[in-house]
Amino acid sequence: MQLSEIKGIGLTTEKYLNELGINSAEDLVNYFPFRYEIIENSNIKDLNDGDRIVIGGICEQTPNVFHFNRRLNKMTFRLNTGEFIAKVEIFNRAFLKSKLNAGTVITVIGKYDRKHNSITASDIKFGLIEKTLIEPIYHSSFKINSTKINKMISYAIDKVDIKDYLPSSIVEKYNFIDKKEAVDIAHFPKDKRKLNKALERLKYEELFIFMMKINYLKNSKKQGDGLERKVDYKKVTEFIETLPYKLTKDQEKSIEDIYNDLISKNRMNRLLQGDVGSGKTIVSFIALYINYLSKYQGALMAPTEILANQHYQNMKKLFPKLNIVLLKGKMRVKEKKEALESIKTGEANIIIGTHALISEDVIYKNLGLVITDEQHRFGVNQRGNLKNKGITPDILYMSATPIPRTYALTLYGDMDISSIKTMPKGRKPVETILLGSSKEDINKYLKMMLYELKKEHQIYVVAPLIEESEKIDLKNINEIEENLKKAFKKFPEYKIGIVHGKMTQEEKDKAMNDFKEGKTKILISTTVIEVGIDVKNATMMVIFDSFRFGLSALHQLRGRVGRNELNSYCVLLSDKETKRLDVLTKTNDGFKVSEEDFKLRGGGDVFGIRQSGDMNFKLSNIKEDYELLLKTKEDSSRFLKSKEFDIKENAHIKEMLINSINQD
Ligand code: ADP
Ligand code: MG
Repeated sequence: MQLSEIKGIGLTTEKYLNELGINSAEDLVNYFPFRYEIIENSNIKDLNDGDRIVIGGICEQTPNVFHFNRRLNKMTFRLNTGEFIAKVEIFNRAFLKSKLNAGTVITVIGKYDRKHNSITASDIKFGLIEKTLIEPIYHSSFKINSTKINKMISYAIDKVDIKDYLPSSIVEKYNFIDKKEAVDIAHFPKDKRKLNKALERLKYEELFIFMMKINYLKNSKKQGDGLERKVDYKKVTEFIETLPYKLTKDQEKSIEDIYNDLISKNRMNRLLQGDVGSGKTIVSFIALYINYLSKYQGALMAPTEILANQHYQNMKKLFPKLNIVLLKGKMRVKEKKEALESIKTGEANIIIGTHALISEDVIYKNLGLVITDEQHRFGVNQRGNLKNKGITPDILYMSATPIPRTYALTLYGDMDISSIKTMPKGRKPVETILLGSSKEDINKYLKMMLYELKKEHQIYVVAPLIEESEKIDLKNINEIEENLKKAFKKFPEYKIGIVHGKMTQEEKDKAMNDFKEGKTKILISTTVIEVGIDVKNATMMVIFDSFRFGLSALHQLRGRVGRNELNSYCVLLSDKETKRLDVLTKTNDGFKVSEEDFKLRGGGDVFGIRQSGDMNFKLSNIKEDYELLLKTKEDSSRFLKSKEFDIKENAHIKEMLINSINQD
């Protein structure tokens, strides 16, 4: 159903929803909150400094409003809670000013600063709160906020057909509530217990579909469906000998794994995992070379244009005799035409690019191997639009977020895995320190920064994106920029660049390129710094509010420095969760870090900053819901093998499964 058919959604709202990835009424109803705000009055005595506070009181005065610029304003007033007077500040709510007067009864929700008796509020509600409220919080944008999204959903929910993808035997087995009811509760919760039941049901379904996909792919792996190849390993060894460095044992082993897959009768479906900087790229190049020797075309797909460029330049240097073609979204018409032509005729041996590689207009002559870097787990080969003259290519995926073996066996159950566990020789580990927000600590990292800048090195500064309050985010970034400018005001030559999620792709590319070319010396960013980006001259990274990240994500981030023999540093800034973060100051081994991350609960996003597309669950979290995942693994495997899978009532499940595999 079209969004425009829903009450209250006009053209503008539709556009804003589209920007959030919501393109139909069904999408809207399946757009679930990513968390819930439980609003009940705080007990002041139990609160620690920095805790969340919910407190009712009387506004003591008409608020003061300060406008920083068109988008950013701050409102302050005093709140009399009956027990004490709190200073309240809140950003971007100037529009509430007219409703707040001396004597207005309100409830303030925010962060409590005990020392100053002040509250940085995130929300203000009129009146007092009598009983616990559960407020769904959606990923939202400047243009359309969480409350509005919830409202739109309330209009849409009865209009769309909510399909249940659980077979009835499963619903009975777990005594699950009705799907429609569960969706309803997830958007409009009234009671914690019921909400939990609803969420469990929805999460189970989400994971069931995921595991069903993996099991289905595993079962459908056919013997003897690979390409016939004959390649002499001596040729590979000869090439390896020309490299300016010696490959690590794990790199050699991975190359052997891949070689054996490629020459075997069965199709390769392999994951190559290894820490940032462990040298996966050269392994992928050699895989492409082996494939080339067996007279097939090969493709390497990178998540961004910058990375595709990087791979293209590097590979051309290593294989000057091969015809390597770069294919990206933005290309001159003539260039693009030539590239497409050479791919079609087979003149192009290797094609490196972004998503453009699998777009409609690319026709391959004989693509024998597809490698995807960092992203997209499920098969490019299954995409209907990969035009390749009846050949099904071998597949290699590369990932820089290693996961512990037990998890790997479940999540990657349908593929083989090669791991690079050791770093190339001579690589210096990134020296990581943990600092707080004391003046002393601030001076310490500013000094370190200046020291690196004076050596003509470059620095990344990461300001985490707090999704629920993007307004405050930009304030964070701007504030950090102001502070750095102030700190380095004697050195205007150290130019500062900014990159964040609200910029257009072009703006982002420009900011990244300026940094890469050394035009800017410091790059402040939210976590959008592209995965795998290689700026060798960057030797330091400062990460604000580090506690907001999972350990693996932090580890990935710091992998962006220390790319050569220079000493490099990562400063983690946090006053919270210092024990957890301390792990990173002690080890540089991504596998160990990820073990720890899995062990510790509540560590955030285990799969790094950029989640593999298909593990980007709407509701579930692999780590927190791992027990549930194991259940769905077994249940879905049993379901696929049973007669139930083929009965008419479950036809929609089968259809969804096949469709989703074809789409991926
Ligand atoms: P990643 O695994 O993150 O993709 P890269 O493949 O980009 O890592 O490798 C990082 C750097 O290490 C590259 O500059 C590459 O040339 C270099 N490198 C790769 N393997 C070795 C090795 N065995 N010895 C020394 N340097 C290596
Ligand atoms: Mg890489």
